[in-house]
Amino acid sequence: MRRIAVIEKDKCNPQGCGGYLCIRVSPGNRMGREVFVVGPDGKAQVNEEICTDAESITVKKCPFGAIHMVKLPEKLTEKPVHRFGVDGFSLFSLPVPVFGQVNGILGINGIGKSTAVKVIAQLLQPNFGLAAAGKADGEKKPVDKLIQMFKGSEAQVFFEKVRDGKIKVSMKPQAVDAIPKTFKGTAMQLLHKVCGDNKKIAAVAESLDIGNVLETGINQVSGGELQRIAIAAAVLKSNANVYLFDEPTSYLDIKQRIKVSSFIRELAKPEIAVVAVEHDLIVMDYLADSVHIMYGEAGAYGISSKPRPARTAINTYLEGYIREDNMRFRQHEIKFEAKPPKKAISKESLVKWGSIGKKLGTFRFKIAAGELPKRHVIGVLGENGLGKTSFVKMLSGEIKPDNGEISANVRISYKPQYIHSTEPGDKRVTDMLARAQSDAQLMAKLELEPLLLKKVSELSGGELQRVMIARCLAEDADLYLLDEPAAYLDVEQRIAVSKLIRERMDVHGKTALVVDHDLLLIDYISDLLMVFEGQPAISGEANGPFEMEAGMNHFLKSLDITLRRDKDSNRPRINSPGSRLEREQKAEGRYYYS
Ligand code: SF4
Repeated sequence: MRRIAVIEKDKCNPQGCGGYLCIRVSPGNRMGREVFVVGPDGKAQVNEEICTDAESITVKKCPFGAIHMVKLPEKLTEKPVHRFGVDGFSLFSLPVPVFGQVNGILGINGIGKSTAVKVIAQLLQPNFGLAAAGKADGEKKPVDKLIQMFKGSEAQVFFEKVRDGKIKVSMKPQAVDAIPKTFKGTAMQLLHKVCGDNKKIAAVAESLDIGNVLETGINQVSGGELQRIAIAAAVLKSNANVYLFDEPTSYLDIKQRIKVSSFIRELAKPEIAVVAVEHDLIVMDYLADSVHIMYGEAGAYGISSKPRPARTAINTYLEGYIREDNMRFRQHEIKFEAKPPKKAISKESLVKWGSIGKKLGTFRFKIAAGELPKRHVIGVLGENGLGKTSFVKMLSGEIKPDNGEISANVRISYKPQYIHSTEPGDKRVTDMLARAQSDAQLMAKLELEPLLLKKVSELSGGELQRVMIARCLAEDADLYLLDEPAAYLDVEQRIAVSKLIRERMDVHGKTALVVDHDLLLIDYISDLLMVFEGQPAISGEANGPFEMEAGMNHFLKSLDITLRRDKDSNRPRINSPGSRLEREQKAEGRYYYS
């Protein structure tokens, strides 16, 4: 069985581990061999060819979890498509787009999704592991090697088209928040850079609801607006026949997610292929015709499965086992219950409020009288710009209502929506998690151990989110307020966080209020639901908490979508517009399954 040894350079912190701990403790190094050395970049480097099983102890000793020693699946005989350096991440296959379809890519963070997309977009020249290992790369061009590598498959045809100049790719990158760092100007000026046709720009802007921000500076629009401007820029690029969208729904609320998904779906034509990387399972199911599952070990290697119809692929992903390849890529199956046991709603109230109102600039919102019962999870749904976060801040005491009162004489633990701005960059995670470190469940479920010695400024969005969730849940409080805990998390982390919040509230008999746009997460954790409606940034109104069925019916009706459970996996799915099921459920007023 082939084995690879990898050092994740962005995790390797030689000063943090007390000075190349791996070199000092490696059994191979102690016997005089240079298994671990200092690489040219000052980080540790591992010599894979002389790395033996004995080094598993070195892997465990690295406090940052930077070293991987992994046995590759037996069936994996081919060379990597790309390897980052002699001891870096290897990508073994590619999710090659099929024309006429939306091709989804599903997988955890660090498994190579963005790398694969960059190879397809020709933004990254694959090195087939050769250049990375310092070996001669031969005379052949990378594209010819790809053609040879994928001989006899759809991918061969795709790369022949690339070679013949018949593929023109347009890509919406993952990190839209980087755009204001490189572009100064209005949204319109940005769109003009890719398209000179004002009519076309206006039509796309209308479809994506960004007409009102076209003259606004890129550095002044919200995250959701920036995401839609970036999608518009990708779509307006002329003559593209392959569109790649890397995480197109981050920062978007549910209404926008559905709208953007429908818009992206319409791009796929017999001569046009669309690829989308997405972590929201309900959106992926709605958006994609077929899905490639990417699996392997995060930070070490990634493999792309063949495409499957979206429904089958998502169920296979949840099962963690690809039957045709006899490949188990996760030890446990992710399960949903057909009908979760209904919990009797507690009569004891934890927090109560009368009708309250608040004006913030020109935006006004009101909250109908309500209460949070003890020992429940209350989900909060609604479009962006309707006052959800302001309501959470009122509960936390951060802002006061203009009229009406909240009786909340309770201990509150609060995870805010914007996590970057709240912590100094040079603070260490270990100092932020003083309480959480004695909580084995939190540390394990949120995989926090390798992050402890890192500084806040060194954390990725997903890592910081996990740290902030842990810090919030570790507090001894009566009410836990979590504003958008799914942001930046991959699909498995979202499910893990959902289970964690649910279990902790049940076991400790506590109450949580959770705002999120991931419908699957809210559906999974909530006993009750608050719904925000209105005109974004103008006026908002909140009602509830309702019982789940009533709240979801109300909310889904406002979005004009219906939900059913998948008959095999029980996961929630949006019914196709105009389908028999949708018509039946709408006729019965049953937007949500009961
Ligand atoms: Fe230290 Fe781990 Fe980097 Fe080795 S790999 S130098 S143990 S941080």
